[in-house]
Amino acid sequence: MKCPKCNNPISPLKVWLISRWSFVKCEKCGTRSGRAVNIQLFIISVLLFGGYLILNFSPLFIVWALIVMCVDAYTVRLVPKDKQDGA
Ligand SMILES: [Zn+2]
Repeated sequence: MKCPKCNNPISPLKVWLISRWSFVKCEKCGTRSGRAVNIQLFIISVLLFGGYLILNFSPLFIVWALIVMCVDAYTVRLVPKDKQDGA
C-alpha cells in the first residue's frame, strides 16, 4: 500500500494496525492515513466473518484469517486522515 499523498510505499504489515480509530503515518511526508470504507473493506469483513462462522477458531481459521489479511494489506486503499469526516 502507498501513501495517498506522496505515494511513498508503506509496509503492508501496518494495515493491520489501522482501525476505525487509529492510523498509519507516512515516514516520508508525515501524512496520517486511515483505511477507506469501501467495497474492499466490506468484502474483507465478509470473508473474515464467513470464515469464522464455518471454521470457528480452528487452526484452519487462523490460516484463513492470515490469507485474508494478506489480501487485505495489498488491496486496501488509504485516505488521508484530514479527508475523513468526524475523525
Ligand atoms: Zn506520504
